[in-house]
Amino acid sequence: MKQIAKVLFPVGVPEPFDYVVPTGMQLACGDFVYAPIGKQMKLGVVWGLGQADTDRKLKDISERKNCRALNPGMLKFVDWTAKYNCAPLGMVLRMVLRSYKALDPSPIVTMYTPRSAERLVGLSAGRKRVLDLQDIWPATASDIAKAANVSASVVRTMAGPSRLLEKISVPLDPPFGTPDPDHEGRQFALTPKQITAGQELADLVARQEFSIALLDGVTGSGKTEVYLEAAAQALRQGGQVLILVPEIALTQAGLRRFAQRFGTEPAQWHSAMGEAARRRTWREVAAGRAKLVIGARSALYLPYADLQLIVVDEEHDNSYKQDEGVIYNARDMAVVRAKLSGASVVLASATPSLESLTNARTGRYAHVILPERPGAAVMPEIGLVDLKEDKPENGRFLSQPLIDGIAEALEQGDQAMLYLNRRGYAPLIICRACGEKLKSPDTDSWLVEHRRTGRAMCHLTGFSMPMPSACPECKTEGSLHPVGPGVERVAEEATQLFPQARIEVLSSDTAGNPERIRERMERMAAGDIDILVGTQMVVKGHNFPHLTFVGVVDGDLGLAGGDLRAGERTYQTLVQVAGRAGRAEKPGRALIQTHMPEHEALEALAAGDREGFIAAELSMRELLGLPPYGKLAAVIISAPDGKKADEFARKFLAKAPRAEGIEIMGPSEAPIAILRGRHRRRFLVKAEPMVNLSAYMQAWKSRLRPPHKTKLQIDIDPQSFM
Ligand SMILES: [Zn+2]
Repeated sequence: MKQIAKVLFPVGVPEPFDYVVPTGMQLACGDFVYAPIGKQMKLGVVWGLGQADTDRKLKDISERKNCRALNPGMLKFVDWTAKYNCAPLGMVLRMVLRSYKALDPSPIVTMYTPRSAERLVGLSAGRKRVLDLQDIWPATASDIAKAANVSASVVRTMAGPSRLLEKISVPLDPPFGTPDPDHEGRQFALTPKQITAGQELADLVARQEFSIALLDGVTGSGKTEVYLEAAAQALRQGGQVLILVPEIALTQAGLRRFAQRFGTEPAQWHSAMGEAARRRTWREVAAGRAKLVIGARSALYLPYADLQLIVVDEEHDNSYKQDEGVIYNARDMAVVRAKLSGASVVLASATPSLESLTNARTGRYAHVILPERPGAAVMPEIGLVDLKEDKPENGRFLSQPLIDGIAEALEQGDQAMLYLNRRGYAPLIICRACGEKLKSPDTDSWLVEHRRTGRAMCHLTGFSMPMPSACPECKTEGSLHPVGPGVERVAEEATQLFPQARIEVLSSDTAGNPERIRERMERMAAGDIDILVGTQMVVKGHNFPHLTFVGVVDGDLGLAGGDLRAGERTYQTLVQVAGRAGRAEKPGRALIQTHMPEHEALEALAAGDREGFIAAELSMRELLGLPPYGKLAAVIISAPDGKKADEFARKFLAKAPRAEGIEIMGPSEAPIAILRGRHRRRFLVKAEPMVNLSAYMQAWKSRLRPPHKTKLQIDIDPQSFM
């Protein structure tokens, strides 16, 4: 009998490999080990242990790495994520191991600090400059040298016999401060209703067992301060807290709020972090020393030592769905993570997803409601502008009611915001001579004109080229013409209408990095911008006290396309946009331009009838057996040519297991039939609520392997249908 270890490597493998445990090596599940794969030595994780009498030629594990093991909850979570989302197990482990250096202790660096405040006479000018430095200690010799304009050797000799400086050893990655749950850092005094809501959430956390609550509160109702009461409770118990936010909210301004509440900077985790910051957060989280983590969706896969609370802020937000690599929804996986670790989850939103709302109303989730804005602030009045009646002038996009709304706000010394979820100047470029539309190479999408940068861009693939002066097809000079509005064009129109106003555009093109977004947001909050024209970026969680008018340029945008959640999304986005207005003492107003004023989502919005909208949307879903009344999965097949894609799609369909309560639609061409030169086909699979759809899809997938260069992807509970 030999002792066998199953070792999982963080690569695209569906399961762990077997190795022999050498005599004398002590191993446990979750341990990190080095083992040979082919000619390479790779780091993996022990996934299982057992005895076996085997003739198979198994290799030996080479070495156990001396570091903290992954805990059983983490291993289970990786297993669960892979199974539920039909993803290769190794790829999920790869999401966990984002920083190998974090497995080792922090490197130690030498720093210097002044020995005494005693002023000595007869010092050289350089040494004096060193001792006069403020706010730098402790610091490395090179940092001190740079600040005092001396050489590093001067700094080092000062720690010699003269003993002016003291040499100390400190970790390169400093630990995070300990958040103080009772720090008096609330942004405002809580109202009695907010106190009750916060207490309800804190009570769930105090039970120290799995629980889910939906914190359902209108925009500006103080949700953040309320869920931070639950965070305070978890911190008091010595546990760790993860607050997931949409990536876009991870600006310094957003983080400052958490720092203020608990008196110390929280640990962060997001895609823009450098390797050093990543390693520091990972290590401190694994050691259980980082108590409060604010992160984007991937922060869910950090190896928490004692996770007691996960907050998913803006739980309805699309950015929780990862659409590449391992396809998963962080909101849903947060619930799984909490369940496996016996922790609490708070899902917070002003516009909860219908799935979460249904769970709350049927009693599966605790439902904590914040019905009103505190103080004098009230929800804005929302109106619709029927574009068939109030037509903007030719080549213009703002109707008279919208123009009047802006004018009124500006006259009162207030601010206006125009919302359009389209980057650039114009979404389509057409040749007036031959009718040609500029298309992205090898992709089914139009090029978007960006006038600020003078380029034509594909928003799907990132392709871009300088805006041509002549039509690429008929070569006519100056024949290319922009069709439709993007934010740049709306800003241009606003500038012509209000030449005195300070107008700025906010989109990912104009303010790419978080610092520039923050800077613009702060100027808006301070009243230094009169009209802000923005995309999706302006929607999320910002507070503009002087904003009293919001104009939605195209309320129909979200309703196009074959997305089953289109109505819900439009409703959510517009509620959030409208909710930007009138957040302080001044009442706000929002106007939405539309060609479909009779659409259910828009009608309900204008009437302020959330219940009516939800009821209508739910009865439609129930009738069609769509979530939350049924389950969905998508299959996306792509190949370098259309024939190969069709052929594999047909063969794959023939392999579908027979099962009750399953309906397969497709294959059909995907709405974006060609992407980066790959031809795409889709299936949609609908299942009754009791069916284990993940298991069904896994079984189907395992029956047929795609041929070389053909790709098969499974998307459980798809959010995007492109
Ligand atoms: Zn042409």
